[in-house]
Amino acid sequence: MFEYIIVGAGLAGSVMAERIANILDEKVLVIERRNHIGGNCYDEIDKTGIIIHKYGPHIFHTNYRDVFKYLSQFTEWREYQHYVLGFIDGKLAPLPFNLNTLHKLLPESLAKPLEKKLLKKYNYGERIPILKLLKEDDRDLKFLANYIYEKVFLNYTIKQWGLKPDEIDGKVTERVPILLSRDNRYFQDKYQGVPQDGYTKMIQNILDHENIKIMLNTSHEEILQIKKDKILFMDKKYNGKVIFTGKIDELFNYRYGRLPYRSLDLKFKKLDQEWYQEAATINYPNDYDFTRITEFKHIHPAETKKTIILKEHPQEHIEGKNEPYYPILTPENQETYKKYKKLAENHRNLVLLGRLAEYRYYNMDEIVKRAFKVFEKEVR
Ligand code: FAD
Ligand code: UDP
Repeated sequence: MFEYIIVGAGLAGSVMAERIANILDEKVLVIERRNHIGGNCYDEIDKTGIIIHKYGPHIFHTNYRDVFKYLSQFTEWREYQHYVLGFIDGKLAPLPFNLNTLHKLLPESLAKPLEKKLLKKYNYGERIPILKLLKEDDRDLKFLANYIYEKVFLNYTIKQWGLKPDEIDGKVTERVPILLSRDNRYFQDKYQGVPQDGYTKMIQNILDHENIKIMLNTSHEEILQIKKDKILFMDKKYNGKVIFTGKIDELFNYRYGRLPYRSLDLKFKKLDQEWYQEAATINYPNDYDFTRITEFKHIHPAETKKTIILKEHPQEHIEGKNEPYYPILTPENQETYKKYKKLAENHRNLVLLGRLAEYRYYNMDEIVKRAFKVFEKEVR
């Protein structure tokens, strides 16, 4: 009999399974609806030898040394730094918007005094959220804030979320701040890279333990019964814990309505040319219907004369039709989530973990950190 059941073999479920198997030395059953492990981190090697990320580009970056050390037990790293360019007014310029972007996009007669003003008001190296910069009183800085807002954030955010930047949690646009430096990298974290042989292999290694059993192509409703105060498995006397990493609204049959998620139509293309673009990712805030194009060869080099690109077309999530990639963090949705969370708390053997179950915009490192915490506080 399994003392622990985990729903979802994404990064959250896999790290939790490893903790239970290794530290508690208990048997754990992981069930997964898809026909593969890894959740949205899943990748595979194409015939060309290029590793592609099937659910969108994933770059690992963290300042958590413990998380990096933990994952390093399961993979070698390719020490990769991610560069993103924005296609703005027909020019390619570094993102996040930094001092180089300023000089690339605006004439020197404007860029020079604006840089001076910025550095008088803020420290070199500071990261300023666009919604904060927009509150500037100074006429010139307000001009700059509006310029960046309109050229970089407004249309991209409308495409990505169907909402304007001030209609979603400020933390979303804060992910890509205005950077007062000449560092052109997309992330500034101390540890950055991609698993040498891909995320799927890394997660396979995390799950590789005699105490862990995995059932693919299995949904929670096939093996679990949700009662008023408890989750049952197999028989009425089940006393084990259920760690759920799927959609919380689905778990409770949409009792308080649907929690909206944003999805993506991911269009991969294999091209008969050696390279397609000069950076791994190019964002298109204002042009076309896709948000960005990623060329995987920059992330995982391969000896081939072909290349593979991915265009991301954002769309509404519809149950059964596409994947729920991003929780839409409006105040209203967060209120609905709170109701589900309260309901979950009435189920004494239920533990929530992950992007979907916690309705949070977690990065991979945050997921691992969160799994550590939930393991210590609610599982151990
Ligand atoms: P998921 O990966 O969604 O895993 C949940 C798993 O549970 C899935 O496999 C699902 O099939 C399964 N499941 C759900 N419901 C059920 C059910 N009822 N029964 C059975 N199984 C079920 N993070 C970074 O750090 N860097 C990046 O560059 C980055 N890029 C990203 C790009 C995109 C397009 C997206 C969508 C995310 C990105 N992320 C990135 C975030 C990263 O994907 C997440 O942090 C991570 O995948 C979350 O893991 P999880 O286990 O919570 O969720
Ligand atoms: N964003 C934007 N323009 C850009 C890049 C990002 O407006 O060129 C905003 C947009 O709202 C996006 C958010 O910042 O959803 C977070 O961007 P990030 O690149 O972190 O998104 P992810 O990789 O998670 O899809």
